[in-house]
Amino acid sequence: MKISTLPNNDKTNAWNTILPTRQPHEALAGDVNADWLVIGAGYAGLAAARRLAANRPDEKIAIVDAGVCGENASGRNSGFAIDLPHTVSSNLDQLDGAHRYMRLARAAIAELEEQVSTHGIACDWSRDGKYHAAVTEQGSQSMLTPFANELDKLGESYEWVEADQLAARLGTSHFHRAVYTPGCILMNPAALVRGLADNLPENVTLYENSPVTSVEYANGVSVETPAGSVRAPNMILAANGFSDQFGFAERKFVHLALTASLTRPLTEEEQRDFAVEKPWGLTPANGFGGITMRYTNDRRILIRQDIKVAMGRKFSADKTARLGQQHKRLFDARFPMLPNVTMENSWVGLICMSQNSAPMFGKVASNIWMAACQNGIGVTKGTMSGLLAADMACDVHNRLVEDMQSLGTPNTIPPRALVEIGARAKLSWEVWKNRQEA
Ligand SMILES: Cc1cc2nc3c(=O)[nH]c(=O)nc-3n(C[C@H](O)[C@H](O)[C@H](O)COP(=O)(O)OP(=O)(O)OC[C@H]3O[C@@H](n4cnc5c(N)ncnc54)[C@H](O)[C@@H]3O)c2cc1C
Repeated sequence: MKISTLPNNDKTNAWNTILPTRQPHEALAGDVNADWLVIGAGYAGLAAARRLAANRPDEKIAIVDAGVCGENASGRNSGFAIDLPHTVSSNLDQLDGAHRYMRLARAAIAELEEQVSTHGIACDWSRDGKYHAAVTEQGSQSMLTPFANELDKLGESYEWVEADQLAARLGTSHFHRAVYTPGCILMNPAALVRGLADNLPENVTLYENSPVTSVEYANGVSVETPAGSVRAPNMILAANGFSDQFGFAERKFVHLALTASLTRPLTEEEQRDFAVEKPWGLTPANGFGGITMRYTNDRRILIRQDIKVAMGRKFSADKTARLGQQHKRLFDARFPMLPNVTMENSWVGLICMSQNSAPMFGKVASNIWMAACQNGIGVTKGTMSGLLAADMACDVHNRLVEDMQSLGTPNTIPPRALVEIGARAKLSWEVWKNRQEA
C-alpha cells in the first residue's frame, strides 16, 4: 500500500528556530528487523516507544519519522499542557467523563514532568497555570460562568480575575474577565519534543528524515522509506493526521491547519513599558472566535489564531505570510505600548479532529495499535494515547486504558468534498457567531 501524502517541513517553526541547532538522528538506511515498529515521533509515538522499551527491555524498537523532531505538530503548538477539559456539562455522565479526562491529562503531565526532570530537558517547563478569558460581558456570562460552575462541581480550584487585575497581569486591557486555573504547564514545545527524542531508552532506535512511503501487512508489518526498510511483527501507528493512509482510519479525520506567530524577545526598555512581571498563558473562552496568547519565560509574545480546513494536508507559504500579517495587526491592537516589536516567525501546523472528538486509539488489527487524532490537545492526550497503546500491546494492565477508551471511537465522516464544504461552513459560522470574542 502506497503512502502518498507526506508531511512537509517548511522550517518556519519559531519555537524550533530560536533553539540551538540540533543534529537529527540518522535517517534509515538499509534493511532493519525489529520487534516493534512505531511510526511517528511526536508526543504520541515517543511515549509509545518509551513505554514499549520499559515493558520489553530485551526487545528492539524502531521508530521512524518523516521529518525532524521539533518541526512536527508536537513542536509547533502553543505549548500548553492542559489538565482540565475546556467544557463539561453538569450531568453525572459528563462529570464522570471530566474526571476520567483529568486523570488522563494529569497522568500525562506527570509522565512528561518526570522525563523533563530525569533528563534535564531545557524546555522552560513551568506550572504557570492559564487564564481562560472572555473579551465581552456576554462572553463572560455565557462561557466563563458555566465553566466556573463546572469547576465547582468537579471540586477544582480556580480564581476569577476581573478586568483591572487582568490588565495588570497580562499587560493588555483587551479582556473583560478570566477564570485562572493553576494546573496548566507552559513550555517551549519544540524543546520538549526534541528533548524527548534525544533521551530515548537504549533499546529504541529513532530514524528521522525517514518518511514511510509504503506499507505491507503480510507476516507482520514491513515499511519502506526512500533509503531503507523496517520489518517487525508489531506496529504502533502514531502519525497523527497522516495515519489515515495506513488502512485503518479511512474517512475518520477532519484535517485542520492552525497558525501561530512568535515575536522576538522584548528589549529591557520594552519590558519596562510592558510592566508585566510573570510569564502567562491565555486560552480564549471561545476557541473559534478568540486568540490563544502567551508571554514566555524569554519575554516573547505568542499569538495563535485562525483555524482552516486543510483536507489535502497542505498550506501555502503565501497564506502563512498573510496570516502572519494578520497576527501582527492583532498584536498591535492588544499591545499598543510595544509598537516596534516584530515577529520572529509565523508558521502553520497540521492537526486532525474526528467529528465526535474521539481519539483513534487502541487495537486495530491483531498486531497493530493506533495512537492518533488527539483533537487539538495533543501534549497530554497524545502522550497518554502512545503510552497506553504500548501497555495494551504488551498486555500490561493499566486502568487508564479504560479512561482512554471511554472517550469513544471516531465516527465515519462523509466524502472529502462534502466535508470540505460542511466543515468550512461550520468554522465560518462559529467564527462569525463569536466575532465579539476576537
Ligand atoms: C499551532 C498549534 C497550536 C497547538 N496548541 C496546542 C497546545 O497548546 N496544547 C496541546 O495540547 N495541543 C496543541 N496543539 C495540538 C498538538 O500539537 C497536536 O495534537 C500534537 O502535536 C499531536 O501529537 P502527535 O504525536 O499525535 O502528532 P505529531 O506531532 O504530528 O507527530 C506525528 C509524526 O508522524 C510523522 N509522520 C507522518 N507521516 C509519516 C510517514 N509517512 N512516515 C513517517 N512519519 C510520519 C510526522 O512527521 C510527525 O512527526 C496545537 C497544534 C498546533 C498546530
